[in-house]
Amino acid sequence: MRIIERVDQLQECLAQYNNVGFVPTMGALHNGHLELAKQARKECEIVVVSVFVNPTQFNDKRDLERYPRTLDADAKLLESVGVDFVFAPTVEQIYPDEQKYVIEDESILPLTAVMEGAHRPGHFDGVVQVVGRLFDIVNPHKAYFGLKDYQQLAIIRKMVEVQNRSVEIVPCDIVRAEDGLALSSRNSLLTLQQRAVAPLIYRELIQIREKIDAGNHDYSKLVRDAILQINKNEYLCVQYIEVVDAVSLQEPAENKTVRVCAAVMCGDVRLIDNV
Ligand code: AMP
Repeated sequence: MRIIERVDQLQECLAQYNNVGFVPTMGALHNGHLELAKQARKECEIVVVSVFVNPTQFNDKRDLERYPRTLDADAKLLESVGVDFVFAPTVEQIYPDEQKYVIEDESILPLTAVMEGAHRPGHFDGVVQVVGRLFDIVNPHKAYFGLKDYQQLAIIRKMVEVQNRSVEIVPCDIVRAEDGLALSSRNSLLTLQQRAVAPLIYRELIQIREKIDAGNHDYSKLVRDAILQINKNEYLCVQYIEVVDAVSLQEPAENKTVRVCAAVMCGDVRLIDNV
């Protein structure tokens, strides 16, 4: 496995391959990230994982500053699952000329306006910018994204469609701790007490899912009840829970498949999950 910092070096290494699998990450890797890399390993000739904490997607400066950075440990984990290249560039390598990769296409706006987009202004502009730039650099055949970031996945799919890119987007299941908490790099920032109560988020999402499956479509009441339960806990404060159309992310029509998405502050750590 090689660790590469420079765009030109990576491109030189990849030039001879036409079945490249790509996993973009911000590092501080856990089993969720590794599942993406393992799936890419099964399906592709060459696997590239990027580790880049993208400053343009952080709307909160403190969140960016304290985002965990563990490149040495990340590299060991990636080597253990057979990754070929770790691309760990500097900010200057990714944004040499402040070029913007923000999509102007209006069809993407309804997806970016809701949920995470509403609570983290500019976040998805940064995500689209960095993923567009990374796709241009790596030129992957397949790119792997976790369902953990459900809205991000929907937006990347749309971006690929409107930019007419040839990359295939592969969604990967959410990997959870035994107690149900979705794995996240931010979990390492939780105190013991916060970590102990965080699984309540997933439990409440499951409750909503079970009730919807049983035919209860009073989404606003289901959401209200879940918020009440979660907010009873002194460490937890819901930012939103929404039941949305699984594709458009808008208010669901009758009999459409829905996704239940949540963002909850656990102390000062922001956790997201969905079912
Ligand atoms: P991040 O490093 O948080 O930007 O995540 C990089 C990729 O890993 C994204 O596609 C995430 O959706 C995915 N990912 C993060 N956590 C998980 C998880 N618990 N299960 C599955 N995929 C995940």
